[in-house]
Amino acid sequence: MAIDPGHNGANGDHPEIINQLIDGGYGQRNACNTTGTETDDGYTEHEFTWHVANYLKALLQAEGIKVVMTRSNDTSVGPCTDKRAGIENSADADAVVSIHGDGAPPEVQGFYVLTATRPPAGATIAAASLRLAACIAKAAEDGGFPPSNTLGSGGLWKRDDLTGLNRSDRPKILIECGNMRNATEAALMKSTSGQRRYAAALAEGVFAFLRG
Ligand code: ZN
Repeated sequence: MAIDPGHNGANGDHPEIINQLIDGGYGQRNACNTTGTETDDGYTEHEFTWHVANYLKALLQAEGIKVVMTRSNDTSVGPCTDKRAGIENSADADAVVSIHGDGAPPEVQGFYVLTATRPPAGATIAAASLRLAACIAKAAEDGGFPPSNTLGSGGLWKRDDLTGLNRSDRPKILIECGNMRNATEAALMKSTSGQRRYAAALAEGVFAFLRG
């Protein structure tokens, strides 16, 4: 199992690194990484994803699942999203969860789970990614989180421009857990209790997926 906590703490100080163009898949040239978003009062997405990822890691390890993380701290730069996909691919992960928070207009609320529009690794992996997405979305709803009121449908959406999905050859999803610019969700995403709830929901989704 691989966990990808989106962004990193020093990305904002190093535009010369994170703005470098990389192979984003399907002929696209994408930025290495981005700073991520933050709440109106400055709680950052990288900090949110870092905490949720570590809570999730502990929950999975407690069930005997081997966990690989795409970054080992919240204070450095990158790695680029193609490198992160490489780490997940090299680990031969049975499932990959990339954790993010959105920075949409304040009226937008709820989670959505992304998969690749053009699956990069064949029909079997594509089907597994869709099943993983469905398991995560169901677990999030069961955990009390609403699906997005704006983006995608029923908490599920596809995009064709994300390096981390385009360059993955494992069953992989990217979740925008909530909108950090929405006051209700910002409060939840800043709090330890909220972060633990997101992690618990993600863990339930992974368990359901691995049970098949
Ligand atoms: Zn993000």
